[in-house]
Amino acid sequence: MEYRRFGRTNEKISVITLGGMRFKHGWNPPRSHLPKESIQNCIEITRQALGVGINHIETAHGYMKSENLFGVALKELGTPRDQFKMMTKGAPMTGDETRALVEEQLKSLKIDYLDFYGWHGINNKERLQAATKPGGPVEVLHRLREEGVIRHVGFSTHAPLDIILQALNTDLFSFVNLHYYYFFQRNLEAVRLAGKKDIGVFIISPNEKGGMLWKPSGIVKGTCEPMSAIQFNGRFCLGHPEITTLSMGMHEPDHFPQNLSVLSKEKIYADNEPEIRREMDQRLAEVKGLCTLCSECLPCPEEINIPEVLRFRNLLNAYEMEDYGKFRYNMFEGEGHWFPGNFASKCTECGDCLPRCPEKLEIPRLLFETHRRLFDRKAWLKSKSFEFAASCYKFFKRFVPWMS
Ligand code: SF4
Ligand code: SF4
Repeated sequence: MEYRRFGRTNEKISVITLGGMRFKHGWNPPRSHLPKESIQNCIEITRQALGVGINHIETAHGYMKSENLFGVALKELGTPRDQFKMMTKGAPMTGDETRALVEEQLKSLKIDYLDFYGWHGINNKERLQAATKPGGPVEVLHRLREEGVIRHVGFSTHAPLDIILQALNTDLFSFVNLHYYYFFQRNLEAVRLAGKKDIGVFIISPNEKGGMLWKPSGIVKGTCEPMSAIQFNGRFCLGHPEITTLSMGMHEPDHFPQNLSVLSKEKIYADNEPEIRREMDQRLAEVKGLCTLCSECLPCPEEINIPEVLRFRNLLNAYEMEDYGKFRYNMFEGEGHWFPGNFASKCTECGDCLPRCPEKLEIPRLLFETHRRLFDRKAWLKSKSFEFAASCYKFFKRFVPWMS
């Protein structure tokens, strides 16, 4: 295993983090009911992770059973507390809520301090303000840090670049969890700023949100050979000295070899990497009507996330990444601030965006074309029913204590 310094936290963590989002039945409420199968799954995966030298575990209050599962698994494995670093996250909205939530999380995790606490989801201006207001959650997190309950305070984000830069510039945080992959390089400036400020960089979901790389398109698979797509992207990310760790949501034993392959020192990979990169870059550069993702076209009065829709179009045309495009595109109109934006079909052709586009793209035409190729009613209805179930759960848990 390779270890890197996590920015100004000065902690050395493994370049692969065990992400705890996907254990068996892990998303089924209530959070405190732990089926045997889920516990066994978490124990096996945690044992395997620690065995290969992974020393960093990541979870969140928002991941339903995950904190409780890790609490049981780590006790069961008898892992000494100094053998692992624990990161959890939460999005309390007030100072009082913050202290109560952290106490609950420590109880679930069965530990008495947290190495890293990330305010979960600084995804827009309102959430940045809510998190950092005087007397608010981040201030209380720092008080908990002074009391020794939390070692380092950071944040996670799915926000547009300008909000991430603003959050980094508050100088309130020692680490950031963000999206940055070969297939999504829009946050490079944030990665660089974090590096300049010595803020640790943690990459969220490189294999799934980063391109559904366990199931690459034929073109991606073929172009990356002799590497796998996971390897290519992992090496791309870790090629940035500012980046410390990649969070891999391993939840089956056979996920380890493909993820650990990122660390392979075999010469054949290093020898082939420049040519693979050149071919991948060239495919993208040849896309007709390429969107450079500059975001100059925003805002759109219909709240269409134009650069993100056109990024999926870029990937479709350059690499035939249809499964990934459908997976992400059909999350629009269902994920709130985690993935904002309306479907491209909502474009009224008002023309507001056109003079702002430096590439002079025919934006409405490209949007309609992308919607036709990616909209999948079944996937969309599935995400809607999940959303409906989640709001029912939220509603009922206020009245039924055992559901919490
Ligand atoms: S033309 Fe379409 S995409 Fe452009 S601003 Fe108007 S509604 Fe939005
Ligand atoms: S302004 Fe043009 S190139 Fe820039 S993100 Fe919008 S559509 Fe793409």
